[in-house]
Amino acid sequence: MNTVRLMNTVKYNEVRLATAKFPMVGFYTAVASHSCTPNSYLCYNERTDSMDLHLVRQVKEGEEITVSYFQDDYAVPKGVRAQRLQKWNFTCLCICCTTNTAASDTRRTAIKRLFSHYDQLNLARMLNNAELSPHRGRGRVSPGVVDNDLYDLLDDLRQIVQHMKDEGLYGLAMTWVLADYAAKLQEAGDLQTRRAVTREALRILEMCLGIFHPDTRALAQVTS
Ligand SMILES: [Zn+2]
Repeated sequence: MNTVRLMNTVKYNEVRLATAKFPMVGFYTAVASHSCTPNSYLCYNERTDSMDLHLVRQVKEGEEITVSYFQDDYAVPKGVRAQRLQKWNFTCLCICCTTNTAASDTRRTAIKRLFSHYDQLNLARMLNNAELSPHRGRGRVSPGVVDNDLYDLLDDLRQIVQHMKDEGLYGLAMTWVLADYAAKLQEAGDLQTRRAVTREALRILEMCLGIFHPDTRALAQVTS
């Protein structure tokens, strides 16, 4: 392989994972194409110092294996994704970029708006509650006070999860949202729904990282 070809191979196939310290090029992972609604998830395996490719949904025989080149940075409309994909010199033809673009853009824009609302309200609530009840710690209100913000936050998270499911975004990001959702349900005292949400987070974490990953094992211990 000549130098130019080698440099292009690295340029177009390297992946930068949040879980890994360096950009990497994998022999098998390099053949996975991009989709904005992928059927697989790439993660760094610390134990073997390699990249693992996990299916996050069932695939049909002959179906192409796809990952998102944006990993967990998905809440952007088609136009922005298309611009970013110019780095790899191709136009995405996934269902979100072709037939379902309008619905997909609406959902992803809603996810971004809901996250923004959630982050602002969550921070304001934590600061407010810490001020009001410093002896009770952050994120708590005095007994007997109806915490409407908590129910607004739960509603944000519920909608985000639903939009992500409708978009088929079963990546690690969904487990982070579900973990937040479970924590807020615990605060609200809805332990039954919390258990179901935590189990769902575990199921997706198992798909993304595998059952032997330390994060999966830690969550499995919490849910058992
Ligand atoms: Zn696409």
